Amino acid sequence: MKWPAARSCVFLLVVLALCLQLVCAGTDYYKILGVDRSATKKAIKKAYKELSIKYHPDKNPGDKVAEAKFIELAEAYEVLTDEEKRRIYDRYGAEGLKEGGGGHRDPFDIFSQFGFGGFGGQRQHHERKGVSVNIDLDVTLEDVFLGATIEFEINKQIICPTCRGSGAKNADDVHTCHSCGGNGIKVVRQMLGPGIYQQMQTTCDVCGGKGRIVKSKCPVCQGTKVKRGSHQLTITIERGMADQQRIVFENESDESPDITPGDLIFTLRVRDHPVFARNGDNLYTKEILTLKEALLGFERQIKHLDGQLVRVSRSDVTQPGFVQEIKNEGMPNVEYPSERGSLFIEYQVVFPPALSPEQLEELKKIL
Ligand SMILES: [Zn+2]
Ligand SMILES: [Zn+2]
Repeated sequence: MKWPAARSCVFLLVVLALCLQLVCAGTDYYKILGVDRSATKKAIKKAYKELSIKYHPDKNPGDKVAEAKFIELAEAYEVLTDEEKRRIYDRYGAEGLKEGGGGHRDPFDIFSQFGFGGFGGQRQHHERKGVSVNIDLDVTLEDVFLGATIEFEINKQIICPTCRGSGAKNADDVHTCHSCGGNGIKVVRQMLGPGIYQQMQTTCDVCGGKGRIVKSKCPVCQGTKVKRGSHQLTITIERGMADQQRIVFENESDESPDITPGDLIFTLRVRDHPVFARNGDNLYTKEILTLKEALLGFERQIKHLDGQLVRVSRSDVTQPGFVQEIKNEGMPNVEYPSERGSLFIEYQVVFPPALSPEQLEELKKIL
């Protein structure tokens, strides 16, 4: 790309000026509130409450130090109790927060105006999403009939809770790279001929393109920002859920800094049942009748999936293969679990293996 020399110079000066603004000292909001970096929201609120009472201007009239401290506390509290702000602060420091909103102008706005569209990617906090993981979840027909909760333990990569993904020992150990101004990229200008310059972009050799430098590493993750840990999930199987149905836990896959975790996707695999078969909201089963029951009628009790007994009876002749429908004894509908499908019973008849001469005589007379 060729640039008129004068315009390039002005442009570089603007960029330099903006970069200098960004290189400001790290502010450790955790130290200000006197809490650990893995502190819960509750602990942060508690610490803020105590300290803000202590440094409240009403209690310290005319004390400029207390007043400054009070302002600092409010700022730290605002950032650390806002999940998104805290996340950005943990990974990009206080500087990261300034980029996003308000006063400071992102030098990349200028870059994009000049047509360097591709530069901004790394700095923007629109993160790409990680890989989703599929897991088959073996359940019984009883589970989807009654509903169930399943405790599931997964071992996954998590953001180091000690440094909260910064990789640094202390929050103020993360600094914007001075060499590239945090861009991770340097613009090099080469003279091709008299008055003809070429602009080239190279990855910053000081920070390796990260834009940030960590002064001392987190002792727990050794600066890797992540660790492996087991994680408990409660999976709710709703009444009437189908085989192959997916239960998605958004953003619950492996965590990595700078990316949104992928999803954990459980796919239900409903095991075959020895007594009942299912098709949609209907259940199917088979009952075996004796010849006497098939001819003279019968009364039976079928043990359902929840252990309840379903009474079935017929007073007519039952043909082999006859199917009886019992309404509202099928599977619960997943959308409206109070509505249930039908239970279909197919009757099979077992004939006596042999008849005595007397029985044959009797039968001949009857039939
Ligand atoms: Zn760590
Ligand atoms: Zn750099």
